[in-house]
Amino acid sequence: MTETKFQRNTPQRRVILEEIQKATSHPTAAELYESVRRRLPKISLGTVYRNLDLLAEMGRIQKLDLGGGEARFDGNLDAHYHVRCLRCGRVDDVYGLPTGTLIDGASEAAGYEVLGHRLELVGVCPECKGPPEMEPTAPPNSRARIPRPPNVPANRKRFV
Ligand SMILES: [Zn+2]
Ligand SMILES: [Zn+2]
Repeated sequence: MTETKFQRNTPQRRVILEEIQKATSHPTAAELYESVRRRLPKISLGTVYRNLDLLAEMGRIQKLDLGGGEARFDGNLDAHYHVRCLRCGRVDDVYGLPTGTLIDGASEAAGYEVLGHRLELVGVCPECKGPPEMEPTAPPNSRARIPRPPNVPANRKRFV
């Protein structure tokens, strides 16, 4: 197999780049493969992986090595951070975090010349968190709590 690493943009690579620039969900290679395949039915998953890595090396896209498994890709090159849902794995963008003082403080404290940083926020996304109040239309006994009988003290001794 002959392959020059930085060959000119092939039509395949152009489609892959377009698809990732359209996506806002920080897709994995497998997810991108699904959308690329709609336009290029004969493309292989391996080709998608290889081109994604190349595009990342070329600085055209970002490869995100977030915790929680597979690498994700981002066509958005603006400076921003990511927050990942610990329940469903969804990744969203976060802008405008005042991290400057954190970086300055870190370089002073460690004595390093800090050249860059990675920051991943984790939490529970709005969908997984659910609505702030219990929905009033729920059937009465669906989440009913059994009230404590009045004669049982709350701090009753527990055996561990
Ligand atoms: Zn979630
Ligand atoms: Zn992003």
